[in-house]
Amino acid sequence: MDILQSRKKQVVRSNGQGMSIVCEKRSASGSVSQRACVFCGSRVVLYPIADALHIVHGPIGCAAYTWDIRGSVSSGPELHRLSFSTDLRETDIIFGGEKKLEAMLDELIDQYSPKAAFVYATCVVGVIGDDVAAICKKMTNKKKIPVIPVHSEGFKGTKKDGYQAACDAIACLVGTGSISGISPVSINIMGEFNLAGETWIIKEYFKKMGIEVITTMTGDGRVEELKRAHGAKLNVVQCSGSMMAIAKTMKEKYGIPFIRVSYFGIEDMADALYQIADYFKEQDRGIIERTEKLVRKEILDLNDQLEGYRQDLAGKKAAIYVGGAFKALSLIKALRHLGMKTVVVGSQTGNADDYKRLQALAEPGTIIVDDSNPVELASFVLEKDVDLFIGGVKERPIAYKLGIGFCDHNHERKIPLAGFAGMINFAKEVHKSVISPVWNLVPRRYHRAD
Ligand code: SF4
Repeated sequence: MDILQSRKKQVVRSNGQGMSIVCEKRSASGSVSQRACVFCGSRVVLYPIADALHIVHGPIGCAAYTWDIRGSVSSGPELHRLSFSTDLRETDIIFGGEKKLEAMLDELIDQYSPKAAFVYATCVVGVIGDDVAAICKKMTNKKKIPVIPVHSEGFKGTKKDGYQAACDAIACLVGTGSISGISPVSINIMGEFNLAGETWIIKEYFKKMGIEVITTMTGDGRVEELKRAHGAKLNVVQCSGSMMAIAKTMKEKYGIPFIRVSYFGIEDMADALYQIADYFKEQDRGIIERTEKLVRKEILDLNDQLEGYRQDLAGKKAAIYVGGAFKALSLIKALRHLGMKTVVVGSQTGNADDYKRLQALAEPGTIIVDDSNPVELASFVLEKDVDLFIGGVKERPIAYKLGIGFCDHNHERKIPLAGFAGMINFAKEVHKSVISPVWNLVPRRYHRAD
């Protein structure tokens, strides 16, 4: 397959010597990128905040992106599961949508008593020039809750710019609450969205280690907790693409350092806990020992259970295409624990450092790709004859149309894949998908046999 000329430098075949890959650039015209828009980027980050009102200011089509395709769960309020849109029509485009937005905020804040409201600006709002910030300011004064504009006009960049817009919105809350009574051994969990309850698994580990979690940005999120986030002593950043901006802001403004971690796979989960324990070892002399005990127990339980899956999966090949490249690193390692080999790996928003690490980890011959499209991905997975495709909602149809097993490791997953417990679920899901006899009956295999 011919790769578009303007994309050729965004695809490399690893030779173990760290070839340079072009990344962090706008998608090429005509490429039909797998990336989502700016608004989508901000919405995925913010809407797990469960006691806030989320209003999409734009045409109804933008609001199609709802809770149902993400599934970030809450232990309490579920206001985030409701979708509100100003449903802008032709007359609003001509005469402006500000009045409609103001009336909607007025009505919904009275009806639902949210702790805060986020107003997402979409493409058309940027084009017609509604002053969303002014309306939000007016409503903040009137309703006495933070009404925060999210400058996420879809056309103004990539999904990563949406992450930035979301971080800017969160920064409006951080620093506005009391930080009295916060433990010297305390953290904020960043870039964890409580899909299928994953935040709860991670929090349980921290509880056993004796660490106070001030807030999670943004899984099972609460406005009052976010306001106190500046009281934490360390920011622990997963999914760094989405949360690095707020981590850096908090470092500059409040002097809170941050570390990057991943909760996927055995080594990375253990490494995350050890890094945090190491950071607090002066404040809490027993934390290293407690962490070692916890990790040892979890891994012992895990190893026995994984053995059966390894035997069936040994030598099978996988393709990975995910949002952030940091997760791809964890997935390569997790697949190795199952005896599987990664032959294609890529991401929507990876940076140069991420790709350098991916090349160091990937086996020679692995195709590494930035900001890919369906045609390329389909061609790579066929060329490498993969047994499993790991991706999200937009990669699922590519896999199934080609008759390849699929594992959802994105926002839509319904079973937790993070933590040590998540590794078992991952192994089960991969095993079920790869070993299914249905793949022996699909045309891809028939043609190969011919
Ligand atoms: S914000 Fe723009 S690009 Fe994003 S869904 Fe709405 S119209 Fe589409």
